[in-house]
Amino acid sequence: MNYASHKKTNIPKKEDIFLRKKKENQLSSLSNCIDTLRVEWLKNKSIAALWKDWPRVAGKQLATNCIPLTFQGGVLTVGSNHPQWIQALIFNRNQLIAALRAEGHEIRDLRIQQHYPKRIEPKDNENSIWEKHPSRADIYGKKECPICNSPAPIGEISLWSKCGLCRRDELT
Ligand SMILES: [Zn+2]
Repeated sequence: MNYASHKKTNIPKKEDIFLRKKKENQLSSLSNCIDTLRVEWLKNKSIAALWKDWPRVAGKQLATNCIPLTFQGGVLTVGSNHPQWIQALIFNRNQLIAALRAEGHEIRDLRIQQHYPKRIEPKDNENSIWEKHPSRADIYGKKECPICNSPAPIGEISLWSKCGLCRRDELT
């Protein structure tokens, strides 16, 4: 770099000042953003650290049946699907708080929640509908229809007091 070009870059032009201001603004909004990220990260870190320590603190059985869901403002929420484990959590609540504090988690309170993980229930497919269908004579057996006196699946008779054919006649 020669002297002339070096000198030239050191003279602040109007546009340069404008650009610098713009850059400072961008930097301050970036640092705000980083602050937010840091808070988020600390929040995530505390639940992540808790997840890591949870099996050791709660014990294998309790840890596999009870999951820390959220940890916000010192309040830890632990969820479980089974009443038996919810009872175990309630029973061990104070001990768990003390053990987690001893591990360095700033826990103020432990809340217990009945927790249902989102699971897609399998839809009734044709097979499962057929399995429950009253017309299945092979599992329900046969009985005489009181209307037409022909043998019909027991499931139909007990459901409609008549066979499927008479039922259809009645509906149409
Ligand atoms: Zn009938």
